[in-house]
Amino acid sequence: MRRFAAALACLAAAGCATGPAASSRPGPAGESPKGSPPASPDRPAIAFPTVSAPLLRIGLASDLSELSLPGASWIVSAGGKTSLRPGPLAFVARGTASLVRLQAGAYTEEATARSVAADLAKKTGLAPSVVFSAEKGLFAVRLGSFPSAAAAKDALPKLTAAGVAGFVVTEASGAPAIAMRDGAGNESPIAGSSADVAPAAGEEIAFQSRRYRGFLRVFVNPRGSLNVVNVVNLEDYLRGVVPAEMGPKRFDELEALKAQAIAARTYALDNLNGFGAEGYDLCATPKCQVYAGRDAEDPLTDAAVEQTRGRIATWQGKPIHALFTSTCGGATEDVRLIFSSMGAPYLSGVECGEQEKSVFDGARLPRGTRAPALSSLEWRGWVLQRISSSRRSRSSRGALWAEAFRLAGLEPRGGPPASLSPSSVYPAVLAGFGLTANRDVHLTRLDLDYAAGPPDPAAGLPADARAAYETLSRMKVGGDAGLPPPSRAMSELELGGLLMSVALRLAGVSETSGHLVRRDGGSFVVKTAGGRVSVAAETSVELARLLDGRFYPSSSLALTSGDPVTFWKRGGAVLAFWSISAAAGATFEKESTWTEWVRRVSARELALRLGGRLSGSEVRAIEIKRRGRSGRAVEAAITTDRGTVTLTGFDIRQALELPELLFTVEKGVGPDGAAEFIFVGRGWGHGVGLCQNGAYGMALSGKTSEEILKHYYPGIELGSFPPAPPPPGAPSPSSPAPAVPAVPPPGL
Ligand SMILES: [Zn+2]
Repeated sequence: MRRFAAALACLAAAGCATGPAASSRPGPAGESPKGSPPASPDRPAIAFPTVSAPLLRIGLASDLSELSLPGASWIVSAGGKTSLRPGPLAFVARGTASLVRLQAGAYTEEATARSVAADLAKKTGLAPSVVFSAEKGLFAVRLGSFPSAAAAKDALPKLTAAGVAGFVVTEASGAPAIAMRDGAGNESPIAGSSADVAPAAGEEIAFQSRRYRGFLRVFVNPRGSLNVVNVVNLEDYLRGVVPAEMGPKRFDELEALKAQAIAARTYALDNLNGFGAEGYDLCATPKCQVYAGRDAEDPLTDAAVEQTRGRIATWQGKPIHALFTSTCGGATEDVRLIFSSMGAPYLSGVECGEQEKSVFDGARLPRGTRAPALSSLEWRGWVLQRISSSRRSRSSRGALWAEAFRLAGLEPRGGPPASLSPSSVYPAVLAGFGLTANRDVHLTRLDLDYAAGPPDPAAGLPADARAAYETLSRMKVGGDAGLPPPSRAMSELELGGLLMSVALRLAGVSETSGHLVRRDGGSFVVKTAGGRVSVAAETSVELARLLDGRFYPSSSLALTSGDPVTFWKRGGAVLAFWSISAAAGATFEKESTWTEWVRRVSARELALRLGGRLSGSEVRAIEIKRRGRSGRAVEAAITTDRGTVTLTGFDIRQALELPELLFTVEKGVGPDGAAEFIFVGRGWGHGVGLCQNGAYGMALSGKTSEEILKHYYPGIELGSFPPAPPPPGAPSPSSPAPAVPAVPPPGL
């Protein structure tokens, strides 16, 4: 945090040794291409395009030997000179030598990589090093330094003896140097360790088929090879981060995206110069926060960034360590137990719930009715009976028949079936609803032959009843549950269900499914595939809860945001509405696809995953020694045929390659008799800080971005960046003041 004040000054001034480069270059006279006469004094100076501060440096790629840029014309600024160059442009690393090393694994946590490197150095006697890859977001462990690939190969058995499978890599070495070759064939050395490049005439910059705002910087890293860096305005950077972290199609709630924008802005400011020796502040992968450049931008996430411009989360006046995670599995965890080097009071575990309930009061059940458990077909019949009896004094089979025709939008024809036997019901329905012609046109010999294979529950039906039954089956009348078995008589409720099914199938009544957003006055807002719709909470609506495949009718329904719901409408009138109990219960994150998971991994595969942490050919035991208050496994003893290692925190997740630390584990046997481990878990991510899926759930239920942030980061304040100017009469700038005053930002 100490470096924040310095970095802040750096960002504001946009030009100091450790911070990003100047926002614009006044542009001395253009550097002349090799071999051409010097520029005349009256030739206009070429200015490097202005990119407004604050600027961030984002590492896009590491260790290239050459970078080619295809455009027609480029403005290059290096060594204090700015020049216009014809494309295509190439930057070439001019390291004097290359180094051959052995790579022994790559790790997301630098601490793990360093500890594995030190351990392997001790075991092999080879000199260790750790190299970060911007594109992979991993710290590679490398050992030794060999004159040739053959010599490196000869040393591989040392690694194998230490229980690690390694491979040979070539690294640049020698004095950092860079040369530029332009489209006219001119090649010139670049003074200094970097060159800034922007397309001339408003073209876009692209790297590896992604477009970026700002400009590109080619940076010679300490190994003498090239890193590609995107230098970009902080807010423009966030426009490429928020949609990559929380896709606006899936997370279509502005307040959740605003919370993500504030967290991402805070994270960026808290991690300035995170990879300073590599020439950048942040990488573009999940190791830092995902940045996908211009192509990812979306109007909704742009709005989230714009409406929170300059806003950050602070603790005691400084930007917080704004960690976030996809799906926390019902509760977040104290950061110390996951990342032992970090500690912050606002990164303590909180529950990811509980959703507030809204009650939908619908049609009253008759006094004394015991709520039955209905099949899907019976529920359809139940609704038809209730609608029919509310419109008529009594509910007879004839009344049901008439009501079904009204709902289907057809003139009643024929009469109800004389009995409940399938041979009576199906032909009557087919004829009544005018589907006899459909049978003649659409039901083919092939269809009948197909249905006649054993077992054939319709075998006992007369030919006309059978054809009627197959026609209705073919039309998928009955919905997902299908028609009742044709081998037995129906109940009155099932007959009603069949009639209601025809009304639904002929689209007289529409069925819509979605997720409940929240109550809005006298309506419930439901997110459907076709957008958000409003469902009036009328007291005439038939309600039910669907549990384990059975419908439980009720006169009122408690609902929470994110509940899966389905409703029927005829015109503007809502007929029925039911909810399905969400597997993830009352958590804010119930819509996440990561609320539960199972992984089954062989003991041999697990031993490979341990990499340099512990040698062995198979894992024999996994013992969870300690769990955090959320239930996360935070200390685990893992035993192989070669020994035991104790892993802690996030490294357990990395070593076992699991979605989350919130898991239980059992040892089992595979089909081939080999040992396997079965992991049953919840959540996805590291489980610390803001839960992205939970933030979405909170926003669905009407919470603001500030409420969301203060829930997941308890005790924080919202501040502004850059700091608001001091009010008149405030202490002079020379007096000590916090880097970022915790003042409420204007206008939000
Ligand atoms: Zn959560």
